[in-house]
Amino acid sequence: MTADGLPADLVARVRRLRRLRWVPDDVLAEIVAADGLIWELPGAEALRLADEPEGGTAEPEAGTAPAGTAQSGGAAEVERVMAARLCAGCPVLDECLELDLRWMADRTVGVFAALSESDRRAAYPLWLAERDAAARRDGGPG
Ligand code: SF4
Repeated sequence: MTADGLPADLVARVRRLRRLRWVPDDVLAEIVAADGLIWELPGAEALRLADEPEGGTAEPEAGTAPAGTAQSGGAAEVERVMAARLCAGCPVLDECLELDLRWMADRTVGVFAALSESDRRAAYPLWLAERDAAARRDGGPG
């Protein structure tokens, strides 16, 4: 875990997205649509493996999640493993993650970019901070 409370590999992934910050949305979307292994995930809802009640939400009870994550324990780990398997070998992991963070922010659901929705939501504030810092440093689009 890092100071942000995020796993170090997740922080590294978000920081790697810096190289994509100038790429327009439509270009990213074309790349993902053309080269992504599964852009439309059939039955993505069924892959929400958290032990949430029928008709419930994936939101954890207060105080059950570690800092920076929306879930903890076995359910979160199962979601991570499934997400990694679903996207295994996809050549556009970074582009997919960048696009999802831009478009869905912390409202993202399902599996994208080999990450569970909990991990992407947890990563969003760091992505936003990185983007803001880059915009202040470099100027141009934020
Ligand atoms: S990273 Fe996963 S969700 Fe994104 S395009 Fe590739 S297979 Fe699809």
